[in-house]
Amino acid sequence: MILMVKIGVMICDRNRTCTGNKCFKSILERDGAFAKYPKDEPIEVVGWMACGGCPGERLEYAPADMKKYGAEEIYLASCYLAGYPICPYIEDHKNYIETVVGLPVKVGTHPMPANYLKAHTKIGDWKRDGADRWLGPVTGDKGDADKYDSTNPNFLKK
Ligand code: SF4
Repeated sequence: MILMVKIGVMICDRNRTCTGNKCFKSILERDGAFAKYPKDEPIEVVGWMACGGCPGERLEYAPADMKKYGAEEIYLASCYLAGYPICPYIEDHKNYIETVVGLPVKVGTHPMPANYLKAHTKIGDWKRDGADRWLGPVTGDKGDADKYDSTNPNFLKK
């Protein structure tokens, strides 16, 4: 029997016009946070929405709506961690969704691109802001970091 997982994705409102390419690529190719799912297990994205702006205008509505449409898990996209500074409300968003909406939350979606790794390492904010506790599933594979770096001259060429 093939199981299907249904997810909802919340993105940082600073990226509200994002096309979602990296998130959807990582879902299709089982990279980053989605590496844990077997390729033959379909992943259905039932909802995709920006948080609405600090501190999360849509937080009390969007994940609950996603749940109505069958979401079993909510992902706070990698942009929560990629922007400078990282979202200061990650813990609040996670806590609200898990406690009130009643869905588990994962932080991070696609692998963190190499250009973001370099910038945040240089600035030192990830360390300062305790981002390490979230970064595990979306960092650590250099090949993936290069693969998702759209500034790489070889991006998508292979
Ligand atoms: S920093 Fe956090 S609360 Fe502010 S817009 Fe981005 S995700 Fe939403």
